[in-house]
Amino acid sequence: MMRNIIAANWKMHFDLDTAIQTALQMKEELNGFNDVELIVCPSFVFLHPLSSILRSSNIKLGGQNLYFEDKGAFTGEVSAGMLKSVGCEYVIIGHSERRHIFSEKDIDIQKKVRKALEYNLKPILCIGETLKQRKENKAFDVVERQIVSALDGVDLSKVIVAYEPVWAIGTGVAADRQTVEEMHNFVSNLLDDVPILYGGSVKPENSYELATINSVNGFLVGTASLKTDSFKKIIEEFKKAKED
Ligand code: PEP
Repeated sequence: MMRNIIAANWKMHFDLDTAIQTALQMKEELNGFNDVELIVCPSFVFLHPLSSILRSSNIKLGGQNLYFEDKGAFTGEVSAGMLKSVGCEYVIIGHSERRHIFSEKDIDIQKKVRKALEYNLKPILCIGETLKQRKENKAFDVVERQIVSALDGVDLSKVIVAYEPVWAIGTGVAADRQTVEEMHNFVSNLLDDVPILYGGSVKPENSYELATINSVNGFLVGTASLKTDSFKKIIEEFKKAKED
C-alpha cells in the first residue's frame, strides 16, 4: 500500500518563540495520527530547537532546501550533512519559489536530490507548471522534464514527489479535481511506487475532495500549515476521505 504523507512548509514565517509554540502545540494535537507520515519543514534557524521538541513525537523534521556541495566557501548555504546533524529526515527540493525567485535550474535540482539521498535524507521533489505553460498546453511536458531531469538514475525508494502547480500556490484557490487527478495519474505512470503529494492552496475546506483522488497520497501544505487547527483539520479530512 502507498504511504500517506502530509508535510507542512512553514517557508519564511515565524520567529523563534512562535515556531517553538506552534511545534509544541502540533506535538500535542497531532499525537494520534500514526498512519500518516507527518513532516514539518521550518526555517533552517528553527530546526535545532524543534528537533528536541519533536524527537519524542510522530512529527518528523524536514529542511526547505539544501546546497549540493558537502562543505566549503558557500556563504549563506546549508549542506545535507548539516540538515542531518540537526535531526532532519526529509528535505524539500525544487520548490517553485526556489525555481522562480532564486532561479534554480533543473541541473541544480538534480544535484540536490542526489546529495540528499547520499546523506540519507528523503527528498520531497516539487514539480509543477506555471499558468503560462498550462495555457500553452505544456503542463505535461514540463512536469515530465522536471521529473526526468531530477530523478534520472536515482533510487526511487526514498523519493517523494509533490505536484504543485505554480498558479495554485499561495492563491487560496487549489487546482480543480480533474486537473489534479490527470496530473497525478500521469506522474504515477512515470514513477511506480513513489508517493505523490498535491500542494497548492490546500486547506480544510478542499482537503477531503482532493484526498478522494486515488493517486493523491498526501499534501504539501504552506499557508494552512502555519496554524495547528487548520493543519490538524486537513489531516483529519485526508484520513476521512481515504477511509470512506
Ligand atoms: C507550498 O508552499 O508548498 C504551498 C503549497 O503553499 P500554499 O499551501 O500556501 O499554497
